[in-house]
Amino acid sequence: MSVVHPDAPAPEPAGEWTDELLSGWGRTAPTMARVLHPARESNTVDAVMAAGPRGIVARGLGRGYGDCAQNAGGWVLDGPSRSGLIDVDLSNGIIRVLAGTSLDDLMRWLVPLGYFVPVTPGTRLVTVGGAIAADIHGKNHHVKGSWCNHLLSLRIVDGTGEVREITPDGDPDVFWATAGGMGLTGIVLDATVRMTPIGSSLINVDTDRAADLDDVMSLMVEGDEHYEYSVAWIDLVARGRHMGRSILERGRFATRAEALGTGLADPHHYATHMLPAPPDVVPSGLLNRLTIKAFNELWYRKAPVRRRNELRGIEAFFHPLDMVSDWNRMYGPRGFLQWQFAVPDSGSEVVRTAVERLSGAGVSSFLAVLKRFGPGNDGPLSFPMAGWTLALDIPVLAGLDRLLDELDEQVVAAGGRVYLAKDSRVRPELVPEMYPRLSEWRDVRDKMDPEGRFHSDLSRRLGLA
Ligand SMILES: Cc1cc2nc3c(=O)[nH]c(=O)nc-3n(C[C@H](O)[C@H](O)[C@H](O)COP(=O)(O)OP(=O)(O)OC[C@H]3O[C@@H](n4cnc5c(N)ncnc54)[C@H](O)[C@@H]3O)c2cc1C
Repeated sequence: MSVVHPDAPAPEPAGEWTDELLSGWGRTAPTMARVLHPARESNTVDAVMAAGPRGIVARGLGRGYGDCAQNAGGWVLDGPSRSGLIDVDLSNGIIRVLAGTSLDDLMRWLVPLGYFVPVTPGTRLVTVGGAIAADIHGKNHHVKGSWCNHLLSLRIVDGTGEVREITPDGDPDVFWATAGGMGLTGIVLDATVRMTPIGSSLINVDTDRAADLDDVMSLMVEGDEHYEYSVAWIDLVARGRHMGRSILERGRFATRAEALGTGLADPHHYATHMLPAPPDVVPSGLLNRLTIKAFNELWYRKAPVRRRNELRGIEAFFHPLDMVSDWNRMYGPRGFLQWQFAVPDSGSEVVRTAVERLSGAGVSSFLAVLKRFGPGNDGPLSFPMAGWTLALDIPVLAGLDRLLDELDEQVVAAGGRVYLAKDSRVRPELVPEMYPRLSEWRDVRDKMDPEGRFHSDLSRRLGLA
């Protein structure tokens, strides 16, 4: 009789395995895991069934900022190993797509055919699986909601090894627990998505320079409903009477006639540009208060005070950061974190307090983005709620945690929450207050994963599952 030690590593099922040190986009807290690159669906099912006590979690393109797609000492399933379109219904704009497919690929394949993704985050380098697990939002949340609002169905391997086809009407509990469920209800294999028809690949953009925070917030409250896409870039370095000065960019896809009017031969022409990545060794202080201040000053000054009907390409409007490959390395070895919260309209003072406290404390953010959210959906862990969301990239520095802890408490008091896909530091006891339907989500998850096979560093850190 052979005796297996309870802590012995689980025997690995067939497939290509590698050892990898994984981190999120912020490059803090990397951990080692065994990574499976599944060649076929059965590899994924077998891995779920064979996962040991440290469990398994899927990983997309690692654009989550924190630790949601890593699993110290356990297994990680590399989503992009399985990517591609399964089915395309061009007359209705409906696609079935493998979960490891990137939005980058979807745009390259489908924009020339007259379709855009229903929701895009600030980078197109995310997978469909990652978009579902975080229920991502874009600059159009106030009119179109988040990614999972546009899913007709998905297929998932749950913790019993069963492959289930799930629809929002047929299995609402399971569907909505998976939407924003951070990969902890199972591994999404593929999804059926309704794409957005577009008359051209150009965006018709209106730009307004706002003198301060009040100015930008009132412009957004008064005008966002007239635009499909809206985002404000805040200069967090500015203080005093300039505090919160911003560039507000709002737009809609240009019509075919508008695009042809520019002389473009193909109104759906789609191209992207990527500059080389920064070198591997970047001095820790490259993005420091001075360089960030200079960048923000330049960004603010280069924007027109008011401009209407500028035609801009998809990349320039939606994904300017993607033009520099691996730009996260510019923060140096210490990395950086992203803090993003949402508050209802009644808590809009928290936006002001956050900007005041962070700029007052000399915290410099290369990127501070303010957006309006429309109503959230039925996902118990889905992040968006009607109101405001503010997202900031912040270099890791001493004292930051205490300040953010205080601000988190104000977010909770206002009925708001932080975004789990970007979190690397929130205090676990605040999570049930931020996500009051957490226990409802846990009940569904426990049914989908009765043996507790799905784990990540995030789930352990926050005691989610
Ligand atoms: C520059 C930048 C800008 C961003 N802007 C936005 C924004 O505007 N709006 C927004 O909502 N988000 C934004 N994000 C965050 C990003 O959209 C999400 O973190 C997204 O989940 C990343 O997808 P990914 O494929 O890289 O997944 P990963 O980061 O690898 O994983 C994210 C989560 O998805 C899970 N997952 C991945 N694949 C699967 C699968 N097949 N089955 C089940 N679970 C899976 C993982 O377990 C993990 O919990 C931004 C990120 C960056 C770096």
